[in-house]
Amino acid sequence: MNRISIKRSLAGVGTAAAALVVLGTAAPTAAQSAETAEINFRTPFECNQEWNANTRANHNPQNSVDFQRADADGQPVLASADGTVSRVEDLGGESYGKFIVIEHADGWTTWYAHLSAQDVQEGDAVKTGDPIGKVGNTGGSTGPHLHYEQRSGSSVERVVLNGVAIKYYGDTPITSSTGC
Ligand SMILES: [Zn+2]
Repeated sequence: MNRISIKRSLAGVGTAAAALVVLGTAAPTAAQSAETAEINFRTPFECNQEWNANTRANHNPQNSVDFQRADADGQPVLASADGTVSRVEDLGGESYGKFIVIEHADGWTTWYAHLSAQDVQEGDAVKTGDPIGKVGNTGGSTGPHLHYEQRSGSSVERVVLNGVAIKYYGDTPITSSTGC
C-alpha cells in the first residue's frame, strides 16, 4: 500500500519518471506515506451492498473495474469522493454509453459508465456517497454492471477502494461501507 500511495502522489508531476527510479532503491516509509495528500476513494455503492469487482487483462481501458451483482440494474451509483461533476455524456450504443466523470483533488478523476440514469449535471459539487446515477446496460455492455475507473490525469490507475487495492486480475468480493 505504501508503494501505491507514493506512486500516486507523484502521478501527474513532470518529474515522476525520475522520482520513481529513486523509489526503486528506497522503500517508502510510513512517514513518507503519511505526508502524501491521499484521496480516500470509496466503493461507489450504498452501505452494506455486496458487489463483485472484476478485473481482467483485456479490459479496455486496462485497470478498469466492472462491478457486478445479480440485481445490478438500477442500483444507485454513489460518488467515490468529494469533487465536481465534469462530464455527463451519452455515447449511445457505443463505448461507455451514458457516463459520468467526477473531478477530485490533485488531478484525479473517477469514471462511471454504462449507466441507466444520470442524476447530476456538469458543474455540480458532490460529496462522498452522494447519488449520481444508476447502474445500467448502456453503450458497449452485454449486461447491467458498473464500469468504473480511477484516473490520475490521463493515466488509468489500478483501483484502490477505502485504502485497499483490489486484485489484478480476478474477482474481488466487496461489501460497501460507504455512508455506513
Ligand atoms: Zn468495463
